[in-house]
Amino acid sequence: MVPSPEHWSLVVAGGGPAGFMAAIAAAEAGLQRVLLLESTPEPLGKVLISGGGRCNVTHACWDPRELVGYYPRGSKALRGPFSRFAAGDAVAWFDEHGLALVEEADGRMFPQANRSTAVIQCLRQAAQRSGVVLRTSEALQAAAQAPGGGFALQLRSGGDLRADRLVLATGSHPSGRRLAQSLGHGLVPPVPSLFTLAFKPNPLVALAGVVMDPVDLELELDLDQGAGPPPPGMAHRFRQSGPLLITHWGLSGPATLRLTAFAARALHHCGYRGTIRVDWSGGRSQPQLEQLFAECRRDQAKRQLNNARPWPALSRRLWQHLLDQQGVEAERRWADLGKRQQQGLIESLRRSSYAVAGRGPFGEEFVTAGGVPLGEVNLATMESRLTPGLYLAGELLDVDGITGGFNFQHCWSSGWLAGQAIALN
Ligand SMILES: Cc1cc2nc3c(=O)[nH]c(=O)nc-3n(C[C@H](O)[C@H](O)[C@H](O)COP(=O)(O)OP(=O)(O)OC[C@H]3O[C@@H](n4cnc5c(N)ncnc54)[C@H](O)[C@@H]3O)c2cc1C
Repeated sequence: MVPSPEHWSLVVAGGGPAGFMAAIAAAEAGLQRVLLLESTPEPLGKVLISGGGRCNVTHACWDPRELVGYYPRGSKALRGPFSRFAAGDAVAWFDEHGLALVEEADGRMFPQANRSTAVIQCLRQAAQRSGVVLRTSEALQAAAQAPGGGFALQLRSGGDLRADRLVLATGSHPSGRRLAQSLGHGLVPPVPSLFTLAFKPNPLVALAGVVMDPVDLELELDLDQGAGPPPPGMAHRFRQSGPLLITHWGLSGPATLRLTAFAARALHHCGYRGTIRVDWSGGRSQPQLEQLFAECRRDQAKRQLNNARPWPALSRRLWQHLLDQQGVEAERRWADLGKRQQQGLIESLRRSSYAVAGRGPFGEEFVTAGGVPLGEVNLATMESRLTPGLYLAGELLDVDGITGGFNFQHCWSSGWLAGQAIALN
């Protein structure tokens, strides 16, 4: 006689933040027989390496209407989910589970212990206490709707399972996308988001390591240069402000990462080529800069240009680079700066253009844009609109945020909503 497969009320595929939250929320709301499958030997692998090993758990942004603005994919559609479980709820949830979060000056929130292992320990303990069964090195290979309801599941190790409900929380892994497709879902093609920009050659290579804050960036793309016609409504101009880091290959830092997040699809369409204009002036207008230069000519008349920057926060190396670029001798005194040279320097401070030739080195992308379209999911419960009993959470969905804890926040929100809905239905 063939033994009947193990039967679970809920199987969650994917032991990442979204899967853990879904399994714990369901179990804590009273659901029994919850199984969490993780294909690798250690769950929560991305949490471990996140935030430079500190895990930026969420962001101190308490208003769901403001929070949605940080999601290039998702945006307004996330108002509903975030009105039920947003950043404040995540902070309270972790607090109730013994993990205090602290806010940094820029709003990012980290565990008080300042280690991502504290987040992992909190989630693993909560799962264990609530009765979630975790199986590691066990991947979900195939899933089909069972004739009598629920799902027939096949594990990569060869075993079979039955589940009344199934959560897919497999992140950006292709196997999860295939599972979602096999259960009737479409897929917005995945493209990288949150990456750095490369110049080839890099005219700023001598400035590697320089940080300027704030800087205004404007990326201009020629959509007609892309492979095939651009999708209707695709934007070709993107702007961001914030800290910028010059690297030996091009540009990085929060402003660049935010820019590439919002421009992820358009950049992909254009083969990661375009023009970026950098305003190094910290938002100063032309008349303000002219005034500043006039003051320097008056107050620092005898000082050499390379020894007296127009304002102290302007990087010395960058200023020297701009002098060099404009052909102005570094030893020239402020009093001897010609009108045309001044105009050239002000122009390069306000509008230096560089040709973008690609993404930064491989391995820097933090999240994937694309995934299961949000229109195919009931965002109040995260249940599939196409396959009853199937729920989707986390990065598998076509949602991604900029850096700052927003990607984990979406995992906490979507996982919690799925777990609650499953337990209470
Ligand atoms: C280097 C780095 C740093 C980051 N730092 C931050 C940060 O500080 N703050 C922030 O908000 N975001 C950060 N992110 C983004 C964040 O890690 C992701 O958005 C988040 O992990 C997505 O969670 P998830 O649960 O959807 O997927 P994942 O974390 O990818 O988890 C999915 C899990 O499912 C497993 N799996 C896949 N297929 C199967 C299968 N068929 N069966 C069983 N298991 C399967 C995978 O092994 C994985 O463990 C960072 C990302 C990276 C790469």
